[in-house]
Amino acid sequence: MATEKVLALTGIDRNYGQGDTLLTILKGADFSLSAGETVALVAPSGTGKSTLLHVAGLLEHPDAGEVVVGGEACSALSEDRRTAVRRRSIGFVYQFHHLLPEFSALENIMMPQLIAGLSMAEAKERAAQLLDYMRIGHRADHRPAELSGGEQQRVAIARAVANAPLVLLADEPTGNLDPETASYVFSALRALVRQSGLAALIATHNHELAQRMDRCVTIVDGKIVDYVV
Ligand code: ADP
Ligand code: MG
Repeated sequence: MATEKVLALTGIDRNYGQGDTLLTILKGADFSLSAGETVALVAPSGTGKSTLLHVAGLLEHPDAGEVVVGGEACSALSEDRRTAVRRRSIGFVYQFHHLLPEFSALENIMMPQLIAGLSMAEAKERAAQLLDYMRIGHRADHRPAELSGGEQQRVAIARAVANAPLVLLADEPTGNLDPETASYVFSALRALVRQSGLAALIATHNHELAQRMDRCVTIVDGKIVDYVV
């Protein structure tokens, strides 16, 4: 049975101008993610992990190539349409949580749902469920500054999946945590992804965490290749 591809990148080029020289980060990169699949992106700093995630998440335009999200080819779409696809289909987690400091954990998770048009009651119920699932229900009313690093990341993960995206993109989500907390947060992330049938591409430096995913890839000469941890 052919598995549905929720994300497909084909022939992606991405260059950055640096003075007179052109820095080639991605060159003819191909990558695809199937529904329910979890993939670790393991590569040294500066090789293009964030670049790949930004292109995949429609935050940056590639210089060449196509990004297909949920069957929709996105390169020729208007910015408004790209934003709509991104809001509907993609969840992001960053190394630093980027939670809104003046709102509680619960409110931070409600926010994307309210923007998507859910009622206050619906958003609140789902946010509370997600907090319970991440085992931080007792922190619902706390603001980010009152949470530990691991708790902040668990809220950020809950927020990223609040609108049930097709694809979760995470950029070194545990890179800022001590090893034990990183392991715990990573387990919670993986359990949530598996339970909700999400597909996920997760950039990480941590080989031990990467091994817990379905497969690993890396970046070599601007291309995405399989990686054996
Ligand atoms: P990683 O996430 O693997 O550390 P990045 O994707 O952030 O790598 O960056 C890859 C390379 O591209 C780095 O050498 C970085 O300096 C460069 N780079 C990233 N973003 C820009 C930018 N906006 N302008 C110029 N160079 C950039
Ligand atoms: Mg990066």
